[in-house]
Amino acid sequence: MMRQYELVEKVKHYAPDADEDRLNRAYVFAMQAHGNQKRASGAPYFTHPLEVAGILTDLRADDITIVAAILHDTIEDTGTTREDIERLFGDQIAQLVDGLTKLNKLDLVSKKAAQAENLRKLLLAVAQDVRVLLVKLADRLHNMRTLGHVPPEKRARIAEETLEIYAPLAGRIGMQDMREELEDIAFCVLMPEAYAMVQKRLADLRARAGGAIETITGDVKARLQAHGLAGEIKGREKRPYSIWRKMERKALSFEQLSDIYAFRVIVADEAACYQALGVIHQAWRFVPGRFKDYISTPKQNDYRSLHTTVIGPKHQRVELQIRTSRMDEIAEFGIAAHAAYKDLTKDGEKGAASGPYAWLRRTIEVLVTGDNPEEFWEHTKLELFQDQVFCFTPKGFLIALPRGAIPLDFAYAVHTGVGDNAVGCRINGQSASLIGELHNGDEVEILVTEGQTPPLTWEGLVKTGRARGAIRKATREAARKHFLDLGRKVLDRTFASAGKTYSEEKVLAALPRFARKTLEDLWVSLGEGQIESKDVLRALFPDHREEAPKPAPEPGKGWFGLSGAERLKFRVPGQDGLDALPIRGQAKNEAVRFNPHGGALPGDRIVGILTPGEGITIYPIQSRALIAFDDSPERWLDVRWEVDEHNRQRFGARIRACVINEPGVLAAFARVIADNDANIFHMDMRPLTADLHEMVIDLEVWNLKHLNAILSELRVQPTVTSLERVIDA
Ligand code: MN
Repeated sequence: MMRQYELVEKVKHYAPDADEDRLNRAYVFAMQAHGNQKRASGAPYFTHPLEVAGILTDLRADDITIVAAILHDTIEDTGTTREDIERLFGDQIAQLVDGLTKLNKLDLVSKKAAQAENLRKLLLAVAQDVRVLLVKLADRLHNMRTLGHVPPEKRARIAEETLEIYAPLAGRIGMQDMREELEDIAFCVLMPEAYAMVQKRLADLRARAGGAIETITGDVKARLQAHGLAGEIKGREKRPYSIWRKMERKALSFEQLSDIYAFRVIVADEAACYQALGVIHQAWRFVPGRFKDYISTPKQNDYRSLHTTVIGPKHQRVELQIRTSRMDEIAEFGIAAHAAYKDLTKDGEKGAASGPYAWLRRTIEVLVTGDNPEEFWEHTKLELFQDQVFCFTPKGFLIALPRGAIPLDFAYAVHTGVGDNAVGCRINGQSASLIGELHNGDEVEILVTEGQTPPLTWEGLVKTGRARGAIRKATREAARKHFLDLGRKVLDRTFASAGKTYSEEKVLAALPRFARKTLEDLWVSLGEGQIESKDVLRALFPDHREEAPKPAPEPGKGWFGLSGAERLKFRVPGQDGLDALPIRGQAKNEAVRFNPHGGALPGDRIVGILTPGEGITIYPIQSRALIAFDDSPERWLDVRWEVDEHNRQRFGARIRACVINEPGVLAAFARVIADNDANIFHMDMRPLTADLHEMVIDLEVWNLKHLNAILSELRVQPTVTSLERVIDA
């Protein structure tokens, strides 16, 4: 068992700034916490976290990682709480140990659905602090090394999980040695005969080829020296599992396998890498198609190296990797070789393309996509990630969404309020649409404006149930609020015009008569027209008689005596020649018409659409009819108003109003319109509910400003509940 001072010295050796006191305290704390607990092997339990810490010192992990490793099983296996760890070792370490505890409960080879969710949790934990993954892998490696003491059934399950999940993960983040050791142990457990076969063949080959590694190493070294290149050559046999996999994948027998040996050439700098490559290619014939330059184009996990295969001195294939010692360090330690992870804290504000989050984003991206998917997916179940897309908030938090998800899904995943109030977004710093597809690694910033209601049409665009549900709920609530306000206004007006007042208490007392539970329900029902406001008036004032009854309306003429006026026209003569409007930007002989379903007014931004043989049709820019011409940009003409101030003309505009049904409404409308020097030339009205009517009025006005002035004046009418211009009739 590693002694306390040995551990501290090992860490201090490569990290002189390490917090010695904290390491000592962690050692003592974990030893006491685990007390007399034993491993399956019968060894004291404390040897396990200590070995895990030892593996991580070999990877030169920072002291926080080492402390987390020593403590990693205390919450799960002893009476220690997260609070204890936080109090004694700080928040960062507490979070790491807590994350590791949660990861231990994940079953990664369970049923598919649960597995996907568990993998997601794993990634989330890794995204919060990548050191979680380092400790987890070291933990797994030690458990694999001591797997012999575990009951056989459990052993197979752990080995399977290792081969499918943890070994590929280690490889993905560049920790090749760890990957290979994990694979070999799992291979030995899961396929003992195959493992034994490969081992035996390797031994035979060693006996036959006798010192091939030494021969080749010496040969390469001599040739490099002859060209003045100092370098270190490391040769090795490939590992049993990688040999087995190659045999399986390429359906080859062991004898057919050519590159059992791999050599690593470590030289001083990048230039020397290429020089060494030249020397080697001059000496031996290289195998075409096997040369790869990962120095000029690094792999996504920052792996850099030159790869080549040559026909070596004994006419066998020799695989060579040529790199500098720094590149070698990254190839060997992967993530652990990066200093960046030490700055990773979840409070970090740095986003954008630089800083630790960029690196983390890339790592996650590497985990989920990778540049050599076949190799990765083939032996792992991580393909489940292919159904998902991983994005980040500007603060670096990971949001996992189903593939095809759009920024709106992202907004709702962050918070319902963010989704409801979303008005736009920025993806990787660029303005983007809320409904475009998201990609792995996107950093998404949602722009919000308070008090928005998501349009119901969004419901069909989002991919997540959460967003869909929230949109439905928000639109339902907005509709309810609309009807509630409407009902309240209707009731107020009805009482006011009867010369009565009401208190909410009195209305509350009358609720049972309307079979409504709350005041709000009553208002909504009034707004929706399920209850008529006059019935509420009668309920509260049973004796109320309409004192000065209106002149009895003739049948069918109830509303201001104008119900028969649905097609009433206020025609103003002399309104021909609308198409004589001079519009700049058109050829003289093209006929000009206005979109019959929604006129444009001077002041509107307009577009001309050219129909060959027919002429130009003018549309306001906001017209939905223009969508039909989206795919034919050649038909769009840039047109502008050029109105003759001396020969003024009127233009048609349509407005739609929702009004409370009471005497005088139409008169008030007509007066405002007349006072503003506009004409009504067509009008439709229809009851929406007993209390509300909709009016659609076609006006003739001078221009947009004129129309807007009329609209503003109509809007302040107390009976108006909504009023809008209609562009597309
Ligand atoms: Mn453990």
